[in-house]
Amino acid sequence: MGERMTTTTVAGARAARSRGRRIRPEDARSNNRRLVLQALHREDGLSRADLARATGLSQVTISDLVGELMGEGLVAESGAARRSGPGAPSRALALARGSRNVVAVSISSGDTFEGIVADLGGDVLFREVVERRGATGSDAVALLADLVERLAARAEAPLLGVGVSTPGVVDGAGVVRESSHLAWRDVALRDILSERTGLAVSVVNGVNAAGLGELSHGQVDHDLLLVRIGAGVGAAAIINGSVVHGRNWTAGELGHVVVTEGAGPVCACGRTGCLEAWLSVPKLEARVAAARDDAAAGGRSGDETDAAAQVRREAGHCLGIALAPLVATLGLTDVAVSGPAHLLDGTLLDAARDAIAARVLPIVLADLVVRRAEGDGDLRLRGAVALVLSETLGLT
Ligand SMILES: [Zn+2]
Repeated sequence: MGERMTTTTVAGARAARSRGRRIRPEDARSNNRRLVLQALHREDGLSRADLARATGLSQVTISDLVGELMGEGLVAESGAARRSGPGAPSRALALARGSRNVVAVSISSGDTFEGIVADLGGDVLFREVVERRGATGSDAVALLADLVERLAARAEAPLLGVGVSTPGVVDGAGVVRESSHLAWRDVALRDILSERTGLAVSVVNGVNAAGLGELSHGQVDHDLLLVRIGAGVGAAAIINGSVVHGRNWTAGELGHVVVTEGAGPVCACGRTGCLEAWLSVPKLEARVAAARDDAAAGGRSGDETDAAAQVRREAGHCLGIALAPLVATLGLTDVAVSGPAHLLDGTLLDAARDAIAARVLPIVLADLVVRRAEGDGDLRLRGAVALVLSETLGLT
């Protein structure tokens, strides 16, 4: 498992360890740095002795690394002295969140580019939204590069790097192989932006970014399937903290899986009964509206709500049909669905879970949660920030 796993992993250090390759002294040192930073990223106010316990490293190594990280400004003594055992009181340490900044940009499935400057804690320091006005191809690249440059100029601390979330198929070299949305084909986005800004650039598919963003909320050690319901439907599978890409970088292309063969709505791809035809926001909203109109026209005004709920139930059922084999195969317990609350909440997600329940063994279902993703609005931007933190500092 070569570069591909290391380029978009949120747990590079862990993955490297699990691969069991021989560790050179410089690798060990940078791995130890990551362990210290990671411990402080998860919890503020640890003393050097706490760090030694948390990382399994010796006190001497910890003192040395902490000295180095303080010298770089990444770690600071937070001032509060506290006693963490017998002996002299020790100083509490913290990640200096303001010591570095990250630029993140999200290309939405709509017509905007949204960018932020964030600190190491993910707090947004500056935000800019640019209307794309239908720009595609090299015009869209130029617009994006200008935005990144403007954002970089707003940084309040040295920049670690730039994270870009884009629709389409993205490979491990940061090349957008194909994005019909922007009419991009084989656009070397990482290299273009890196050359322009002189910064490290990470490019990630938007659904994978949303998955990483969702994961940055909570436990990184667990597995997550994130399903994104927007103009289209896609999924991100994150296993052991790493995004699953597939050999051709097409993992997660769930939208055109046919769930009702020979029946159901016609899809943009030309087939009938694709998951996306059932679930994409525009199609779902249109069917909900039509069902309401039908009920109203039939003089059954009291039935309008029921009719709309029935449409959402049907869509949720189709989602469950598509998810059941994934849940069973991967042993997933956490499925987060990102999309508009008014369509997803309640009926639709309940129906999805019911459909999964009807298709898998009870033991597979035991701990399964099908829920709406948290913090929907900024998921992709947060994921792009998380990716930069992971690739530069090893923070997850
Ligand atoms: Zn389709």
